[in-house]
Amino acid sequence: MATARPRERTADALVVGGGVLGCAIAWNLARLGAGRVVLCERRELGAATTSRAAALLSGVRSEPAQTALALETRRAILELEEELGDDLALHAVGSLHLAASEESERNLLELSRRAEACGEPLEWLTAAEAADRVPWLRTEETLRAGFLPRDGYIDPYLLAAAYARAARARGVELRTGVEVLEVVAEGGRVRGAATSDGFLATPMVIDAAGPWAGLLAARAGVHLPMAPVRSHYWITAVHPGFPADSPVVVLPDAAAYARPEVGGLLFGLREADSLARDPRRLPEDLAALRFDEDPQGWDTLAECAPALVRFCPTLDDLALAHYVSGPSTYTPDSRHVLGRLPSLDGFWAAAGCCGAGIAVSGGVGRALALAALGLETPFDLEPFRPDRFGSVDAFDPDFLVRCAAGRSRKRSG
Ligand SMILES: Cc1cc2nc3c(=O)[nH]c(=O)nc-3n(C[C@H](O)[C@H](O)[C@H](O)COP(=O)(O)OP(=O)(O)OC[C@H]3O[C@@H](n4cnc5c(N)ncnc54)[C@H](O)[C@@H]3O)c2cc1C
Repeated sequence: MATARPRERTADALVVGGGVLGCAIAWNLARLGAGRVVLCERRELGAATTSRAAALLSGVRSEPAQTALALETRRAILELEEELGDDLALHAVGSLHLAASEESERNLLELSRRAEACGEPLEWLTAAEAADRVPWLRTEETLRAGFLPRDGYIDPYLLAAAYARAARARGVELRTGVEVLEVVAEGGRVRGAATSDGFLATPMVIDAAGPWAGLLAARAGVHLPMAPVRSHYWITAVHPGFPADSPVVVLPDAAAYARPEVGGLLFGLREADSLARDPRRLPEDLAALRFDEDPQGWDTLAECAPALVRFCPTLDDLALAHYVSGPSTYTPDSRHVLGRLPSLDGFWAAAGCCGAGIAVSGGVGRALALAALGLETPFDLEPFRPDRFGSVDAFDPDFLVRCAAGRSRKRSG
């Protein structure tokens, strides 16, 4: 008679959540020799926020600590490809930033200084050169255009799956269909976790539960300074004017970004008042998530599309084929939430993606794993400390509004 092997009830580290961040962390823990690593995902790997991302991989971010995380992702993709012997279909098409106002021009000059400081190439283009690279782009209003050749995008689900496969190959146990119900602590130290599959004894829990991460932390008595905020984009019908190899375009004066996708144009818009959601009201299955205020994003289109049409007149006569929305998590200062919870030894948070979780996944995976194992790290996690706002009430409506503003302000890719 065949008997199922009983599950191990102990681990050296437990990663909660099998999105891109949890899988990247698990892979890095295994690479660093963390011992027995278990990842629990209550649904399927990579199927929540991760699979909804536009997945722009912008390398130069608003501050050096974030840039370091993003640049590490490029290295991680190469290492994964080597480790798995697989091509992850990175679209290294570059990103074109077009400034059409004095404020955007100042910001673009600032971006070029940050690029220079970290050795990332940035080419200045004339309006005509910008139009040559991006046939759909109307460039008459250009004050300045900068091109970052190393940027691009990737299929986010495939990237998460690659982290997961590489983690499994290095001995990580990926348990899907297992929910982590509560972190169990004693004397201010993590002792384990209650899961839907029984108790798991472990001295280390890394909470990478995406927009739900704050709920697990709150059950352990700590509020993470972040809130789920709607991100969304549209994809037009197929049109020959959007070549598959054309760059990502960032248009701060339209609060928009765009890139080719399935023969059409994928474009994301950031409305002046983004919608936040109390995490306690977030369904487990994102297919059931509905923002009643504007369920299909029509209000955002009405508000923001005219500015985008200035730069892409083709959009005016084109049908929309897809609408994708989901909860990114934002913080009041647009920085991630990464690090140890000072009040609970052994509990680490890897959340507050600020709409960039795919782009920084390689860096977050490596930085968190190094820090959690007490190893020397080249990454500066100080700006991302979970306790940097002091004690917050993450369910307070005013706090949710502050987090939503983090997205509304965003003008980068
Ligand atoms: C429309 C949209 C566009 C975006 N565009 C970009 C972009 O261009 N570039 C970019 O970098 N990022 C982008 N993002 C953000 C990106 O998708 C996220 O930053 C990233 O997916 C976060 O990954 P995660 O692993 O933290 O969360 P998730 O992918 O949500 O994974 C968390 C997982 O935890 C599981 N879980 C939750 N609670 C528990 C529990 N108690 N026990 C066990 N499992 C649990 C969930 O089931 C889920 O699978 C976008 C997001 C959206 C919605």
